Amino acid sequence: IFISFEGGDGSGKTTQIQRLADAVRTAGREVVLTREPGGSEGAEAIRGLLLEGDADRWSPITEALMMYAARADHLERTITPALERGAVVISDRFADSTMAYQGLAGALGEARVNSLHDLVVKGNEPDLTIILDLPIEVGLNRAGARSGKEQRFESKGTDFQKRVRGAFLEIAKRNPKRCVVVDASGDMDSVTQRILAETKNRLPV
Ligand code: ATP
Ligand code: C5P
Ligand code: MG
Repeated sequence: IFISFEGGDGSGKTTQIQRLADAVRTAGREVVLTREPGGSEGAEAIRGLLLEGDADRWSPITEALMMYAARADHLERTITPALERGAVVISDRFADSTMAYQGLAGALGEARVNSLHDLVVKGNEPDLTIILDLPIEVGLNRAGARSGKEQRFESKGTDFQKRVRGAFLEIAKRNPKRCVVVDASGDMDSVTQRILAETKNRLPV
């Protein structure tokens, strides 16, 4: 079973993934926790290239190709082998982040992201995608309260972040069987309860 978590910066993905992983492990299943960009040795090296440097270090198409090169390695080396041995794979971001940030909200556009997606991911989409939805200001406050973030990406401003939020909601609307939007504005425990309920509802975990 393959589950991805998506949502804007500071929406609680990394926090909630740990909690879902604990619950699934308690139920007796192997869990592989992973993240994007990254999740395999090669993809983590590419993540370093993506996150370092000035905002204009990579052009939009170069950035997207690097994201998809990382994703291909992540699928080959981490996700597919884990799924083949029956593990539950939970990824902190996956392909919807590229569609949201680079495709729908960014300069690359939807069509080019779709081409890369068909080449690399088609047929290996997550079984369930939890989209954590939160007003931008709340997310940026939460993320700001956390220390020491690297981030070539974080200089992009609130207009961009608002488009990203809208993009995730649009992706959810287009993929109602795979995606569920969870209101992430409550306290951590209530968000966890919603996620556990949706997961049990939709998957045999
Ligand atoms: P990023 O996309 O930047 O990696 P994220 O979606 O992984 O962010 P987290 O790192 O899980 O978000 O959370 C951001 C901050 O907000 C953390 O300091 C976390 O402890 C805090 N936080 C997470 N969930 C909640 C919540 N429901 N209420 C209040 N604070 C929260
Ligand atoms: O979730 P995490 O904070 O690890 O993501 C790293 C950064 O990369 C975030 O600031 C996010 O905004 C950005 N990102 C992006 N495009 C993607 C995936 C992540 O701009 N496809
Ligand atoms: Mg995170």
